[in-house]
Amino acid sequence: MIAELRTMGISACHVLQTHTYPSTPSVLPAEDVRHGWYDAMEQIQGQGGVFFVGEVFTGHGVTNTSMGTKKMIERMFPVLADE
Ligand SMILES: Cc1cc2nc3c(=O)[nH]c(=O)nc-3n(C[C@H](O)[C@H](O)[C@H](O)COP(=O)(O)OP(=O)(O)OC[C@H]3O[C@@H](n4cnc5c(N)ncnc54)[C@H](O)[C@@H]3O)c2cc1C
Repeated sequence: MIAELRTMGISACHVLQTHTYPSTPSVLPAEDVRHGWYDAMEQIQGQGGVFFVGEVFTGHGVTNTSMGTKKMIERMFPVLADE
């Protein structure tokens, strides 16, 4: 990032702190997708009244997660989509 800022002519750059978030974004290994992880999850959605949502289903970021989750809820509970 510092190198990118320098290409824009910004030279007074100091890194104060960095932090790594190893579990974000939530993405699946391609192998799991190939082996039907999404289909398997679809099969167990709602069992025992438990529903799984989040960025692994909808894509990274708050906008994708909230809009995608809204669509999932409307699909799972059609009565809510009509309201
Ligand atoms: C540092 C950082 C900066 C980001 N900046 C942006 C940004 O500027 N704009 C943007 O759109 N997106 C940003 N994101 C991405 C955004 O935060 C995620 O895409 C979004 O929060 C994913 O929502 P989620 O509901 O799938 O997961 P989360 O928001 O991570 O929610 C999962 C929840 O489950 C809880 N949990 C986990 N395990 C358990 C368990 N075993 N039992 C009970 N609870 C559990 C966690 O504590 C957490 O509250 C950022 C992410 C990070 C890490």
